[in-house]
Amino acid sequence: MIVEKAPAKINLTLDVLHKREDGYHEVEMIMTTVDLFDQIQITELEENTILIQSEKRFVPDDYRNLAYQAAEKVKDKFNITKGVQISIYKQIPVAAGLAGGSSDAAAVLRGLNQLWDLHLSQEQLAEMGAEIGSDVAFCVYGGTALATGRGEKIKPLPSPPNCWVVLAKPSIGISTRTIYEKLTADHMNNVNTNDMIQAIKDRHYPTVCQRLANVLEAVTMDTHPEVKWMKYQMLKSGADNVLMSGSGPTIFGLTQKESRAERIYNSLRGFCEDVYVVRMLG
Ligand code: ATP
Repeated sequence: MIVEKAPAKINLTLDVLHKREDGYHEVEMIMTTVDLFDQIQITELEENTILIQSEKRFVPDDYRNLAYQAAEKVKDKFNITKGVQISIYKQIPVAAGLAGGSSDAAAVLRGLNQLWDLHLSQEQLAEMGAEIGSDVAFCVYGGTALATGRGEKIKPLPSPPNCWVVLAKPSIGISTRTIYEKLTADHMNNVNTNDMIQAIKDRHYPTVCQRLANVLEAVTMDTHPEVKWMKYQMLKSGADNVLMSGSGPTIFGLTQKESRAERIYNSLRGFCEDVYVVRMLG
């Protein structure tokens, strides 16, 4: 049996440059993994099948699961007639802007590479991942990286400065597609990605906080005022800055003081179920 960790990601920046002819949006995002994990267990089966097991509601147990699609891709590409059972122990909130499904898929690619001795490089795994979903390529690498194209072109970056990250997911579901549909040209091209890259390279925490930016945030907050309210609460309880991750609804606040992270956690716990204090994984 193979066990793989599938970490969540947050966006330190997210800019949309324009809508492409193929319908995708051209993006520029800086993402980093945090220590909130799903755990993936992969067991080989003699029978040629893919079984998905998860005790969590809203996680599909068939081809709609990105972990299933990852296993199918590997099996098809290498004509593997053995099967797998994939058990997903979810910690990452679902449909939250934290790339839980994409990270599960990336963990399956890594796990099957090991299980079946395929000797695929990270680049090859990321290429296969990009065919499953735009965020899967980043999740194959993890750490901190700049993602461009539709999110599948990955350039690793150094670790951001040390800090605590408090994640809070308001109890609402957000459809990424709906948020992108509401995005207008006025929202686009509004992030200085290069300045954030420099701040990360300089390991300059105040500038990293200052440069947090996500063009989807205004769109999500317009349609879901709970997200705006939660951001206000987090700032009021002492976060140095707060940003929404992906298309939301999860927001995260940064602080370098553990006691302050605890204060933010305690002040938000009463308002939503999903609150976590985590660290960036570098
Ligand atoms: P992103 O940040 O990449 O937009 P997300 O965190 O918003 O992703 P996910 O948690 O990946 O969203 O789930 C979005 C939808 O994908 C879910 O509603 C679910 O139906 C489907 N899904 C497919 N595979 C998985 C999986 N392994 N775990 C959770 N959801 C999955």
